[in-house]
Order: sequence, then C-alpha cells, then structure tokens
Amino acid sequence: GGSGIAQSNMLRARMRLSLQEHLWEFYRNNVNIPAEEQAMARRAALDICAELRVFLHAKLPDMPLREMYLSGSLYDDLQVVTADHAQLMVPLILEKNLWSSIPGEDTIMNVPGFWLVRRENLEYFPRNSSYWDRCMVGGYLSPKSVLEVFDKLVAGSINWPAIGSVLDYVIRPVVPSETLTLEVQYETDRKLYVDFLPLLVMEDGTSLIAKPHRLAAERHENLWRQSFRVAETARLRALDQEDGGCRCNCLKVAKAMCKLNPALNRLNSSQLTNAILLLSEKEGDWTQEALADRFLQLLRALVGHLEAGRLPCALSPKVNLFCELTEQEVDELGYTLYCALSDPEGLLRT
Ligand code: GDP
Repeated sequence: GGSGIAQSNMLRARMRLSLQEHLWEFYRNNVNIPAEEQAMARRAALDICAELRVFLHAKLPDMPLREMYLSGSLYDDLQVVTADHAQLMVPLILEKNLWSSIPGEDTIMNVPGFWLVRRENLEYFPRNSSYWDRCMVGGYLSPKSVLEVFDKLVAGSINWPAIGSVLDYVIRPVVPSETLTLEVQYETDRKLYVDFLPLLVMEDGTSLIAKPHRLAAERHENLWRQSFRVAETARLRALDQEDGGCRCNCLKVAKAMCKLNPALNRLNSSQLTNAILLLSEKEGDWTQEALADRFLQLLRALVGHLEAGRLPCALSPKVNLFCELTEQEVDELGYTLYCALSDPEGLLRT
C-alpha cells in the first residue's frame, strides 16, 4: 500500500544521497588535480613548445606553418586524475586556391565527421607549387604523410638529450606511436606526454586534425578528422555558466571513471561531453545537488546510445561518435555500464 511506496521512495532517496556523497568524495580525492601539479605540467609543456618553435624556425624557415600552440584538457581545467598529457597543435597553412575539402559523407567511404582534402588546379599550378604537395597521395593531402614529415624531424633530427639537459628534463620520442608523442620526464616521479597534432583550419572555420581513423586503416588513410573539441567544450562551459551547473564536474567524474576502469577505457572525453550536451537539451536541473541524478542519467543515456550503436555529435548530428568502435567493444561497454546502473559506486572504487 501507500506506506510501502513511501518507504521505497525514502530508501531510494537515501541511496541517492549516499551516491551524491560518494561522487563528491571521489571528485575531491581522485578526479581533481592539485593546482600546483597542473602548473608544473603546463610549465614543462610550454618549455618544450618554445624549444620546438625555435628549432623549426631555424631549421625549416620555408615550412608554411602558423604558430604552434598547446591545447587540451590541461588548459581547460578538464584534465582528471593526473596532469600527464597535452596536445601541441601545429597549424599548416594551405593555399586557398590549391586545396579544397570534401565531407566524408560525399565520398565512397561515407563517413560523416571525416574529410578529404583534394589538390586543385594541378594543370595551372603543377606539383610542388604548394609546399604541402610533398604530402600528396593520389591527389589528396595525406595526414599520414604530414605526420611522417614531423616524425622525421622530431624523432630524427632534433637533439632531445641536449635540449633536455638545458631544460633539466628527460625528453624522448615515444616509439612506436601512432600519433607523434614526446615523453617528458620533468621530475623524478612525473611524466608528461605531448602529442603533435597537425591541424588544418579550412575557410569556413572547419578544423581538421591529422589523427587517423581507427578502423580499416588503409581505406581511410587519406581522411582528416574533423575536430569539434573547441566548440563542444565552449558550449558545455557556457551552459554551466548560465545556471551555475555541474556539467563540467559530471564530465570530470565520468572521465575519471573511464580512465580508472579498464573496461571503460574506450570511452573518450568527446563522447562523454556530447552525451552530457544531449542530456542538457532534455534536462534542466544541473544544480550541485542534482549531480547524482544527472550522473545516473548519463550512465543510462550512454547505455541507450550503445544499444543503438550510435551517439550523435551534439554540434553535427550526422556524425556518429561511436563509429570507430567495433561491435564487440560496443557490446562490452554497454554491458559494463548496464551492470553499473544497479551499483554505480562500484565504478568509483579505486
Ligand atoms: P583528455 O585527453 O581525455 O583529457 O581529453 P581532451 O579534451 O584533452 O582531448 C584530447 C583528445 O582529443 C586527444 O586525443 C586529441 O587527439 C583529440 N582532439 C581532437 N580535437 C582536438 C583539439 O582541437 N585540440 C586538442 N587538444 N585535442 C583534440
């Protein structure tokens, strides 16, 4: 009868309270990174970036690049657990009349969210009219070939031990590495990984990064990946600012949970950010008191997206952010999260 319902409501409220407490405790103890640790990691990344700028200007004055810059969660206060990685963005300059971008859905591969960059006007501006023609494969600018150019430089012709000793760091390129990564040891017990990320900014503002498609490598080799990171992070932050919400906290808890649980490693920040953005379209209460409710809802939403095999990008719904997962990975992630719905605290144990 009525009292049974009241009792189960009370029980549910109590469970929620304890999850709420658990989440904030997890946030304080495991998710959040002390400001000082973040500052040290940022300093090390900045030192390396400065050295590389000097080196590239001196060694390759003709290479058409805009100034390199650092980016990533370390700079948006969205890094979790340890301050250990950053991206070094390397923007290439392309001649407007020589290169054009073709959306992935208009190609034989039919993958929204990826693009081909085609060389134009070869008859009037023959090969080598553009510096980046050296990275052209089959008429397209190849991200793989661009990465190889930097790989040769960074792994081959920079004297890292010498630079390291000046900066008092131990620096070495990580091999093998799919993206081009430097490992920087800046304290006896602290390491930072810096990824080189070549980047194209097209005329309409579309950002394309040289980060290969994970599956069917060969067929997709010439594809550039569209990056939504700047826009999606800005939107999340703006929503929180409007209502003093906890979306960023919720994201950081979810990121830490995925980082600390091997079964969830395949879920990345972009997927989690977009799942929260989609949830924000339906759900208005993101007050600090609602963290546990929203967190559970996020888990449920992720299970739903995994069941559908599809997570639309909030900024471009035709993009499926699960398109690089195998069916088996989708099943495993879905199963892990489904089980977690009845014991969410299990995922927060460290
Ligand atoms: P975290 O590494 O999980 O803390 O997440 P980040 O928000 O720092 O995202 C970094 C990942 O996003 C890397 O794998 C990048 O390759 C990828 N990424 C895609 N676009 C961008 C971009 O515009 N900037 C940066 N820094 N990373 C990007």
